[in-house]
Amino acid sequence: PDKHPGKSCSQPLFTAVISARTFQLNLWKKWSKQPPIRIGTRTSQGFYYSTECTFFQLLEGPEESVKRIYEHICNDPRHYNLVELLYDYGPSRRFGHAGMELFDLRRYDREEVLQQVLNKGTTRYQLTYNDRALQFFRTFVEATEKENYFEIPPGDTWEFIPEEDAFSRQPPVIAKGADCSFAFQPIVDPLTQQVVSWEALLRTPSGGSPAVYFESLTGNAIYESDLKSKQVALSMASALGLEGQTLSLNLLPMTLVNVPNAVDFLLKEIAANGLVPEQIIIEFTESEVISRLTEFKGAVRQLKSAGISVAIDHFGAGFAGLLLLAQFQPDRIKINRELVADVHKSGPRQAIVQAIIKCCASLEIQFCAVGVEKAEEWMWLESAGISEFQGHLFASPKLGGIPPIAWPEKKFDI
Ligand code: C2E
Ligand code: MN
Ligand code: MN
Repeated sequence: PDKHPGKSCSQPLFTAVISARTFQLNLWKKWSKQPPIRIGTRTSQGFYYSTECTFFQLLEGPEESVKRIYEHICNDPRHYNLVELLYDYGPSRRFGHAGMELFDLRRYDREEVLQQVLNKGTTRYQLTYNDRALQFFRTFVEATEKENYFEIPPGDTWEFIPEEDAFSRQPPVIAKGADCSFAFQPIVDPLTQQVVSWEALLRTPSGGSPAVYFESLTGNAIYESDLKSKQVALSMASALGLEGQTLSLNLLPMTLVNVPNAVDFLLKEIAANGLVPEQIIIEFTESEVISRLTEFKGAVRQLKSAGISVAIDHFGAGFAGLLLLAQFQPDRIKINRELVADVHKSGPRQAIVQAIIKCCASLEIQFCAVGVEKAEEWMWLESAGISEFQGHLFASPKLGGIPPIAWPEKKFDI
């Protein structure tokens, strides 16, 4: 993108881009008995033919030029499954003398092509074999990371139409006399079309957010209200007919520490609404847990002894991350929206999500992804091994009621 390729510029930037094709397609294997299909461009008849090509591309030059050309590539309908692996700054260009070069790996010996690529480099970088950008080249040529890239079909392969049912047609329930209300949102397994759990999300009576509800409270009143609100959540869940289902409730970790007999209060309310502790999951936010871990672990012992499950919410958003799992293992982990957003396009997010999945699998911790808004996000996450999801793509929270769920329907018969 630089008109003067030989010249080193003041703040050069490089971005490595990979546009991946079919390496693995777990989603399809899981969904139907058909063999995995290589998917390329959709034809006017509505089916797909294979355009078998994976490109690995390094762009470098002034930041604005690189961004512009990258955007151009992203918007070019001939490319798909574009993943950004690296975005970084450096003192000069690695391939300052090369204009645009294309190496067709099918026509080279692997060792040879790598040397050819490196030979094109500016002298300084020819010697820097541990440079990240050059390592990406090496890995791509040697094809050692293939199993980590999933090809996903285009987003419009699926239709998401919210489906009214007996549950969602019920009129909303109102918590009479209470200073709070709840919205309900499902965590779903889209491929088996099952609701894993219903999460009760705190609202003001008029539907204001949890932040608005807590705004007017200070000191211990925050914790007392947090706990007392669960009485409302449980009775609304019961009124909505969720007795046979799993119910997720959010609590500040310190609510259990600061309010005397908090667990007993919860157990009493669970029973009073015709529920059992085994169907309740309490979610705690990662960053709040880590700041007072010892006290928190004591409270968790009480919950677990009573049969209540524990989930860590907003996992990956705080500062503790995977280290938290060395100190305490929850039953479930909810992978945060910040990692989920555009995961299909981000190499770093993909690597982090894969590490979390691997860790959870080793420790037999169940996991789900939260805040899924795009079909592509869901398809990538499903290919990576996640099967439980929460997000607007499937259902949005509904105040005092059960929202209709949009189960994914395959639009084209492929
Ligand atoms: P959370 O537990 O992670 O709950 C999910 C939040 O993500 C909800 O926001 C929900 O509306 C939102 N959400 C769901 N799907 C999507 C999506 O596809 N995209 C995006 N961008 N957002 C989505 P909400 O209801 O505003 O709650 C915010 C947070 O407040 C909750 O995050 C939870 O940590 C906290 N909270 C909720 N209820 C309670 C409660 O009873 N007590 C306490 N202490 N905290 C609560
Ligand atoms: Mn939550
Ligand atoms: Mn959240």
